[in-house]
Amino acid sequence: MKTLKINLLYRCTAKCSHCRFFCENESEVVTPDFETPYAVAKGLKENFGLDMAVILGGEPTLFRDETIQLIQRIHALGVRTRLETNAWWAESYEKALDLVSALKETKTDVMLSLDAFHEPFVPARYVANAVKACIDAGIRYNLEVPYLDPVHKEHALDKRTESLVNQLCAEFDTEIPQYEGGILFIGRAADEFGDLFAQNRGVPTEPCTKVPWWGDSDIETLDLLILEPGGYITKGCGIAIGNVHDQDLKEMLVQYNAQNHPIFKILLTEGPLGLAKLAEQYGYKIKDQYADKCHLCQEARRILKPYYDDILKPDQHYTTHCH
Ligand code: SF4
Ligand code: SF4
Repeated sequence: MKTLKINLLYRCTAKCSHCRFFCENESEVVTPDFETPYAVAKGLKENFGLDMAVILGGEPTLFRDETIQLIQRIHALGVRTRLETNAWWAESYEKALDLVSALKETKTDVMLSLDAFHEPFVPARYVANAVKACIDAGIRYNLEVPYLDPVHKEHALDKRTESLVNQLCAEFDTEIPQYEGGILFIGRAADEFGDLFAQNRGVPTEPCTKVPWWGDSDIETLDLLILEPGGYITKGCGIAIGNVHDQDLKEMLVQYNAQNHPIFKILLTEGPLGLAKLAEQYGYKIKDQYADKCHLCQEARRILKPYYDDILKPDQHYTTHCH
């Protein structure tokens, strides 16, 4: 076990059209459970050798002090930490410095989002403030820059993203570390952009053996685990391995075998097309083309959800009302 990603909450300050967790900024803000993430990180460190915990949401800094305290407690276990945030807190340089300075002691990496999807909710100026604060405070950081189509960048949103990144980089006389990639057509991105980008892409037939949002992310190993609100342990796609509120964590993971998991075993062999064929039994009609394998997977899982309701969790991954 190497990395635990902790989705603290689905509530955000934004409601980006590409959000893979259907996060939103309209519902009541409810304090997340901070104890379960700590207990899971501790259990994984003691039993499986956890190296890194990544704190994300939604927007974790909606609960600034509690999130920093969680990072400090996990750091004290001897686990590296990383915070993924949209920088809504960096309205001014002073405010930005205040937050990142609080992370310095724990040597927490900071991932900042910058793209046209976030821009309506978080001005790029905020991200620039956060970058400057990270540089001045000596915090390791990087920008995450997703494109709908990273090869052509022809969509208006992609053009805007490229311009935002160029503008920000031009403000600094140092190279800004950034990870550029394609969005994954999962969650709200599948609903909003899936059909548009499916043109001429056909039906994906390949298996899915690893999830795309981290290295060492093979479905068959425990090297990457995601803890979601409600206690679900997943690989990040709304497919539960188990729930820490129902089972002993160590037992759950020792017993985990993806080849025996009703959904993962299909993904590993036949891929999302196997799930779609199963979904056909419940009325799904396979289309001629999909934007990517996650788009097909998301649609198939949504149909299968009522029939595999104890496994296709958390429910948030199957939301339809908030896009
Ligand atoms: S992509 Fe990030 S910032 Fe945007 S709604 Fe989702 S969690 Fe919030
Ligand atoms: S194909 Fe399905 S299981 Fe694989 S990464 Fe995409 S959403 Fe997750």
